[in-house]
Amino acid sequence: MTIDDFRPTKEVTTFYPPQRVLMGPGPSDTHFRVLSAMARPTLGHLDPVFTGMMEELKSLLRYSFQTKNMMTFPVSGPGSVGMEMCFVNMIVPGDKVVVCRNGVFGGRMVENVERHGGIAVVVDDKWGEPVDPQKVEDALKQNPDAKILAFVHAETSTGVLSDAKTLCEIARRHNCLTIVDTVTSLGGSPIYVDGWGIDAIYSGSQKCLSCPPGLSPVSFSERVTDLVKGRKDKVHSWFMDLNQLLGYWGTTTRTYHHTAPTNALYALHESLLMLSEEGLEQSWARHERNYQALKAGFATLGINYVVDEQYRLPQLNSVYVPEGVDEKEVRRRLLEEYSLEIGAGLGAFAGKVWRFGLMGTSSKIENVLFCLNALEAVFTDMGLKVEYGSAEAAAHRYYAANPMPSSFSG
Ligand SMILES: *Cc1c(COP(=O)(O)O)cnc(C)c1O
Repeated sequence: MTIDDFRPTKEVTTFYPPQRVLMGPGPSDTHFRVLSAMARPTLGHLDPVFTGMMEELKSLLRYSFQTKNMMTFPVSGPGSVGMEMCFVNMIVPGDKVVVCRNGVFGGRMVENVERHGGIAVVVDDKWGEPVDPQKVEDALKQNPDAKILAFVHAETSTGVLSDAKTLCEIARRHNCLTIVDTVTSLGGSPIYVDGWGIDAIYSGSQKCLSCPPGLSPVSFSERVTDLVKGRKDKVHSWFMDLNQLLGYWGTTTRTYHHTAPTNALYALHESLLMLSEEGLEQSWARHERNYQALKAGFATLGINYVVDEQYRLPQLNSVYVPEGVDEKEVRRRLLEEYSLEIGAGLGAFAGKVWRFGLMGTSSKIENVLFCLNALEAVFTDMGLKVEYGSAEAAAHRYYAANPMPSSFSG
């Protein structure tokens, strides 16, 4: 063997990804302002200029989460790391945790509780339905020793929004801390961390924040930081131990913990800046309006929603695949012919459901019209009876009749 024998057997050249339109369950399209932020010079993670940017990033995150929590920062890792971080810090082995499961991500929360030595009391709801507050109330009554209530605000596998405000109220009445998954809701649906009294919250960079994947914004109340500081055992993770991370992301000290992904953090800074320029309420209204227009178009195509209107996520549209349609073939053609990505069904919904994301930068008029047009064309080609042009026209009519408030700029 020579050194060259270890070279790749296939010729490798620079990777140029195609330009897609991302309308699946995440990642969403990244705005050029965010992409170009990533291409700026790498700084040392302890450089004072960089740590100044970190402070801005934390204040922008506090705005997007609507909190004054000091411990608000992005974890270096995808949403799943933010999830694990909450559980590993807050569960002392033997703790009882009430976990709501109405889709894939609630199921992952159960896994987290069990792997960190907790006892999971599972409150199940049907896929496509929100978490039932009455069931949570009952579970907490039957388990007065429960320490934590964990639930998913926006269940991306089904497209359902649960009532986080009510669930947090119930938890507080029963003296429980809360862990809330807002990976898909942050930026797309109202969240008030302080107003609702959420204790631990995590999100992801690549959904309604429209940043590349790989960062997980988190925020912890003082109740959580006190709990973690007071633990008798060490947190069962070196990397995710809040006490240690405080030394890097805290305000007073800035000591090496791990090398922060500097350029990825520039990107998050830029995307949060864009969100604050637009305004949270404007962003929520934009997500709602584009969902309404997509829905108007779907109605003409005979495409039906999985979720009852009142619980739907505007940023994640779960719809049934029409009878007799080869769902995989439709996704393949959308990707190959239109460079348009939509999501397949997960778990129990595999093969039966499509998921159309309208998240962050992807939530825009052009995408709604483009997607409806593409679907009509593909359906027509596949022999389905559709009235060509009707879906786009219906969406267009919705937009004309429902303008955004005048301060809307994008
Ligand atoms: C996407 C998602 C996650 C996981 O985030 P990753 O960045 O893929 O690790 C967790 N919870 C919900 C609700 C999600 O939509």
